[in-house]
Amino acid sequence: MRLIEQVALIQQACQKAARPLVFVPTMGALHEGHASLFRQARSLAGKEGCVVVSLFLNPKQFNSAQDLALYPQPFEKDKIMCEREGVDVIFHPSAAAFYAPDHSIDVEEVQLSRVLCGASRPGHFKGVTTVLTKMFHLIMPTQAVFGEKDWQQLVIVRRLVRDLNIPVTVIAAPTLREEDGLAMSSRNERLSQSERAVAPMIYQTLEQVREQVQAGERKVALLLEAARKRLESLPGSCVDYFEIREEETLAPLEEILECSKARLFVAIKLGETRLIDNISLSVL
Ligand code: AMP
Repeated sequence: MRLIEQVALIQQACQKAARPLVFVPTMGALHEGHASLFRQARSLAGKEGCVVVSLFLNPKQFNSAQDLALYPQPFEKDKIMCEREGVDVIFHPSAAAFYAPDHSIDVEEVQLSRVLCGASRPGHFKGVTTVLTKMFHLIMPTQAVFGEKDWQQLVIVRRLVRDLNIPVTVIAAPTLREEDGLAMSSRNERLSQSERAVAPMIYQTLEQVREQVQAGERKVALLLEAARKRLESLPGSCVDYFEIREEETLAPLEEILECSKARLFVAIKLGETRLIDNISLSVL
């Protein structure tokens, strides 16, 4: 496994690397959810191909300096996981090396980025689309793997590569969960014991809504009402959003129709930690 920190070197290495070249962007603080993406990348690349993982805590996608400062960076542990999962190249640039001090170009998606996390974290998705555009140019992957855990990010990345004609295939990987249903996240380790104890209620609530849909309820307002109250009653919680939207366009829905691909999205703060999750409500 090679560790590359310099921008010019990753470009050189990736130009020469075997194809398929499968890229998994991360911010580090790796967990088993990331490992599942690496395994999918390894199997897509095959023995002959190349798996590149970026570990880059991208300051541009944080809209709070405190959130950035609190983000864990266990680099040695991350390296061990990459080695274990058969990653060929780690790209780990410093922010100063990655962004020229006088850089003046950002890449912004202006529709899908306005809702859900984009509404409560202004500038977040501009940071994501900017870093990924640069990463795609440097690495020129044939495929890139993204987790469904960050569903909004996934649809924005698909829009990015479509609208800017970036020649990469976007692959979606399912959300990995703890045994109690909590979606794995680097932020989970910030939860206190009591917050961690109530956190599985988030996924349980999503599942309860799915069960209501399966039982025939189609009205979005009715589906959300009682479930939202349950989330709001969790100790120390603050619900940021709890919404049902069409899963590709992120358009709001009033009713779940047979033909609509509906998805339930939640963002909730437990104490100081903001957690997100989503599940499909499609009735196909
Ligand atoms: P991050 O390091 O949080 O930027 O995440 C890097 C990639 O891992 C993104 O594509 C995430 O969607 C994905 N990811 C994070 N958590 C999970 C999870 N629990 N299951 C599957 N993928 C995940």
